[in-house]
Amino acid sequence: MNTTDFYRNLAEAVKSGKIPYVIESGEGAYLTINGKKKLNFCSSHYLGLAVDDRLKEAVKEAVDKYGIGTGYRTLAGTHTLHVQLEEALARFKGAEAAIVLTGGYMANCAAIATIIGKEDIVISDELNHASIIDAIRLSQVKNKFIYKHLDMGELEERLKEAVELQKTPKENGEEPVILIVTDGVFSMDGDLAPLPQIVELAKKYGVLTMVDDAHGEGVLGKGGRGIVDHFNLHGQVDIEMGTLSKAFSVMGGFITGKATLINFYKQKARQFLFSNALTIADTAAVLEGVKILEESDELVKKLWDNTNYLREEFKKLGFDTGHSQTPITPVMLPDENLARQFSAKLFELDVFATPIVFPMVPKGKDRVRVIPSAAHDKKDLDLGIAAFAKVGRELKVIS
Ligand SMILES: *Cc1c(COP(=O)(O)O)cnc(C)c1O
Repeated sequence: MNTTDFYRNLAEAVKSGKIPYVIESGEGAYLTINGKKKLNFCSSHYLGLAVDDRLKEAVKEAVDKYGIGTGYRTLAGTHTLHVQLEEALARFKGAEAAIVLTGGYMANCAAIATIIGKEDIVISDELNHASIIDAIRLSQVKNKFIYKHLDMGELEERLKEAVELQKTPKENGEEPVILIVTDGVFSMDGDLAPLPQIVELAKKYGVLTMVDDAHGEGVLGKGGRGIVDHFNLHGQVDIEMGTLSKAFSVMGGFITGKATLINFYKQKARQFLFSNALTIADTAAVLEGVKILEESDELVKKLWDNTNYLREEFKKLGFDTGHSQTPITPVMLPDENLARQFSAKLFELDVFATPIVFPMVPKGKDRVRVIPSAAHDKKDLDLGIAAFAKVGRELKVIS
């Protein structure tokens, strides 16, 4: 193969290099696309913080005071704002300590690949996020068990096998580590991991647990403290990973846990050692976001009021909204073309909700995934609901 073939193959592998929607405004209740205002009906900025004036002010102040960039944390890049943010996140999550990285993806890689090596054992839900899957690959672990989504019976079977394997020591004489890892909220269906049962099984077999709380923070638990708080399991999940890009609406990721574990990550995680830290603006924005949530649960309450209202109205109209337990509201449209067509027609009615089709979900589980936020008022939701009703009838999804 010469290089001409190589580039032709690349071009053939993707239908079009064009990004379909370019956003020309802030990402609040509404967005501007091609100069037109659209209802923002599918973003995971759950709390509307992407356009919050308090975050904007905090960023301006911090940038005026400290400038823009930071550096490598372990060399000379740890800024007082980074330290403050880690303290704030640990406090918010009710954990001993926190480490902040530049993305949730990075945080998952650090969380798993730093403590799991070739000879350890990982047990993972089949629907875990791609960044968990990649983190497991990065660890090069040989013994990985994938259990059927939420199936605690199968998880226990895999645990029994893992415990048998654990009896053979590693080359260095140590016992292999066993880690169960799961998403807290599964992002396509909005269902929850049965964390109490997972923790119970982990205790029974003496293994470590990790939860990815990307869609739980700012959403579940008291004042949005996440899935561990929701189930009142403080101190019982070894590794909690989170993102700063969903409810916090900025960027970055973090891990919370016991101070011993977090210190180990700070000394050993390659994603921390060999990659730059969050900028001043990002860090100041998230710090303000945490402060807002610590002061009041108003935004989280509004998110849930909106969620309950929207779901109720969709159900009344006759849509199948799956079995979500969170603001993630799938409207099932079991055909790829139908889902695409549905979304395109919504767009004509100035409602922005993108289709989710194979391979993001299995074939026949196509959908438009709606996510209300605290930025929406009732009239915004009503506008979206009316558009869904019109398109639903037009496409004969509802009668
Ligand atoms: C979005 C997401 C991530 C990745 O977070 P980023 O900060 O965007 O890198 C990880 N896990 C889950 C479950 C997510 O939904």
